[in-house]
Amino acid sequence: WSKEDFPWSEELNTTLKDVFKLDKLRPMQLQTMNITMAGKDCMLIMPTGGGKSLCFQLPAVLSKGITLVVSPLISLMEDQLMALKTLDIDSTTFNSNTSTADAKTIQTAMTDPNSTLKLLYVTPEKLAKSKRFMNKLEKMYEMGRFSRLVIDEVHCCSQWGHDFRPDFKFLGIMKRQFPTVPILGLTATATLKVLDDVKNILNIPHCQLLRASFNRPNLYYEIRTKPSSFSDTMTEIKTLIQTRFSGQSGIVYCFSKKDCEEVTIDLQKNGIPTGCYHANLTGPERSRVHEKWSKGKILVVVATIAFGMGIDKPDVRFVIHHSISKSIENLYQESGRAGRDDKKSCCIVYYRLADVFRQSCMVFTEQTGLKCLYGILAYCLNVKRCRRSMIAEHFGELWDSSHCNGMCDHCDPNSVCKYFPQSNMTTHCRNILLILQQAAETDQKLTALKLIDAWFGKGPASLRVSDIKEKNITVEKAEKIIGFMLLNDYLKEEFHFTAYTTISYMKHGKARLNCSKE
Ligand code: ADP
Ligand code: ZN
Repeated sequence: WSKEDFPWSEELNTTLKDVFKLDKLRPMQLQTMNITMAGKDCMLIMPTGGGKSLCFQLPAVLSKGITLVVSPLISLMEDQLMALKTLDIDSTTFNSNTSTADAKTIQTAMTDPNSTLKLLYVTPEKLAKSKRFMNKLEKMYEMGRFSRLVIDEVHCCSQWGHDFRPDFKFLGIMKRQFPTVPILGLTATATLKVLDDVKNILNIPHCQLLRASFNRPNLYYEIRTKPSSFSDTMTEIKTLIQTRFSGQSGIVYCFSKKDCEEVTIDLQKNGIPTGCYHANLTGPERSRVHEKWSKGKILVVVATIAFGMGIDKPDVRFVIHHSISKSIENLYQESGRAGRDDKKSCCIVYYRLADVFRQSCMVFTEQTGLKCLYGILAYCLNVKRCRRSMIAEHFGELWDSSHCNGMCDHCDPNSVCKYFPQSNMTTHCRNILLILQQAAETDQKLTALKLIDAWFGKGPASLRVSDIKEKNITVEKAEKIIGFMLLNDYLKEEFHFTAYTTISYMKHGKARLNCSKE
């Protein structure tokens, strides 16, 4: 698809430069545009920030008539419309906030052969519920003005996906109603199962699938061991922000709203212009922080994962995770907000075993929650492989580690990444099992913290095992060993609705680690 010359190829290139002010296309953009320009159905899977919008915006400019864009979030539409306005591309949105007068103007434009309207954004609700709008679409189709249907976040069609939205189901009628209108579906996350389901729902069994690589060559991935105290962690983060990232924009992701507030205050006290962003703030408060940050009036946003959709700041130089994400998928999305301008940017995760338990108490009720969380535990504990290779594997891509170019803490020769000595593991694991056995015999439940205490000869005497001679290991290493045992099924978490987490010994030679809701 990319090599041949198409009737539109020349105009595509000049429009890219003259209208969109861009030099060249990114991987998969040309292929996608050529397929949709040829009138074929297509689904594009591309990571967030990869440049999906251009794949329909440019064809919209090249095509006669109107491109209908179905998008689930009004805020996302508005961001795109703002950008289109600065490029002088006639575009608008029809959603629940649209006034009656504006709705009328839009509906007139839909069937006016002289209208210059190129892109019309709608919410799936509007499409499903406004009969009048549907009638207008039919007219537009009959007039040959319905040039393309774009469905953003197309995975929302499927119940198997993580973000099912019932109104997306309605889109199934579009192919029957408008058989000659090519459909272009866009998503950043979709398994094969979801994609198959989406094809069925949309009635596009023969659509072409395009998948862009998830590799972001300009992002440097790094995992650091989180110091045991809040203030030591903050000292490290502050130093990073004031030296390595001095004067640059970034995001610090935290586990909870409370963490966000504490981290924000700490950074502000040190003269770092910082804003706080989480779900307990009002809409206007959040918008204000987002805007100040976008304009460079503050440098750092400290946020929960509520800070996500619609972030399109190109020069985010660092994303620091004060605490691990709940899955590799989440980590990838969150870190991926760095370096949209293709310049080198850093993604640093502070890892500590205690944070795994904080997360596991939140996610254990989700069907694949624990599996995803252990995915990230494996990612954090593994220092024997390129971080990129693990991310690629997660997204089902083949990967050659030589492609990393030293852009992760494993491949970078200057990194301080510490290798985890495997030599004494057996003894350590046996010691842990001995303690757990003793706990089981005396009918006590153990938290990870109590386990480590007992291991180090502290805490209640009834838990101490006299056989254990080796005391000269650090808490950091002890935590790594427990993490390793969790990953390899020697320990198992158990969940209660009490105030702490516990561990116990299991009959089959394995042990259970009990975690409870805090
Ligand atoms: P997605 O929808 O995949 O998350 P966007 O379409 O919002 O990504 O694009 C992310 C950013 O990349 C935007 O700022 C966009 O202008 C920019 N971009 C897209 N395509 C190109 C390109 N070919 N060259 C340079 N920048 C691009
Ligand atoms: Zn690497």
